[in-house]
Amino acid sequence: MRVYNFSAGPATMPLEVLERAQSELLDWRGSGMSVMEMSHRSPEFVGIAAEAEARMRSLLSLPDDYAVLFLQGGATGQFAGVPLNLTAPGATAAYVNTGAWSKKAITEAKKYLDVRVLADESASNYATVPPEGSLEVPADAAYLHYTLNETIGGVEFPYVPDAGEVPVVTDASSTILSRPLDVSRFGVVYAGAQKNLGPAGLVVVIVRKDLLGRARREVPSAIDWTAMAEADSMLNTPPTLAWYLVGLVLEWIEQQGGVAGMGERNRAKAELLYGAIDASDFYSNPVDPGARSWMNVPFLVPDGALEKPFVAQAAEAGLSGLGGHRSVGGMRASIYNAMPLEGVQALIDFMTEFERKNG
Ligand SMILES: *Cc1c(COP(=O)(O)O)cnc(C)c1O
Repeated sequence: MRVYNFSAGPATMPLEVLERAQSELLDWRGSGMSVMEMSHRSPEFVGIAAEAEARMRSLLSLPDDYAVLFLQGGATGQFAGVPLNLTAPGATAAYVNTGAWSKKAITEAKKYLDVRVLADESASNYATVPPEGSLEVPADAAYLHYTLNETIGGVEFPYVPDAGEVPVVTDASSTILSRPLDVSRFGVVYAGAQKNLGPAGLVVVIVRKDLLGRARREVPSAIDWTAMAEADSMLNTPPTLAWYLVGLVLEWIEQQGGVAGMGERNRAKAELLYGAIDASDFYSNPVDPGARSWMNVPFLVPDGALEKPFVAQAAEAGLSGLGGHRSVGGMRASIYNAMPLEGVQALIDFMTEFERKNG
């Protein structure tokens, strides 16, 4: 029996994708072997890899002047990959701090360059994004980095910051392909796979090609964008099974109407859940309504002592993974692409019943 899994990541996958992978597990399309047993240099796997890249390009309507890389080391690896690939020692880069993942990106970047934090939302306890037009990006910054969606705080930028000529870099780990995104506004978009793209093990880096060729000599080969672009992301053995599964997820997104279709579904899910929270005097969401995430919905109950019973009783009712991040507590429902509307409705029904018993 499958549960509704609200885990923030690794996260729920589309059932159709899991069933397809199961049906192909022992013998991938007449090859007589599993994808995980294939050489990454075989024509079969090279085809799987190329098809996933083509689907990513088509879903995001990517212009030809962007490279798509499938790397390892997670989004965390790219916290170092961004400064090491884009700057020389002594450079300055601009960052926006909207919460836990921004902070980690900033801490890592400080190892390699001079970080200038243009906005820090700590005054709102990370419940806001800076107002549109408020960022003053220094002209000498090598890039502007921000976290498109803060997975822990549930804060999502509703706009793309304007940085003039300075390339904009974003960590889109927990929101990529959840709704349309104009990638041409960015220099780099990167995203770990285990939220919206598939299983853990891959990070996708989309980089404008004119930004290649700037890496420091000491950049590790495994996160060297230029070398990886030249080698079709196969300078070393890639996580082949994860890459194949991401391809199946991308095909599933196409079948759902692409990012436009996903965006409509995700908007409906988010409106339903925030609507239920706002309509209740029992539950609350701390985030500025203009910056609420469509993907990660943190919520609180009036009495912290009710948190554990909430999470435990929800799990008994087939609603898994609702505990908030260990750093902030409370509850959090991650409602990524693969979470159906019925899962959100089931959560709301449970919340209503829990409030009736404990309110
Ligand atoms: C999950 C997450 C990360 C970390 O990803 P890893 O693959 O564990 O390195 C970074 N940024 C955001 C926004 C995330 O949601």
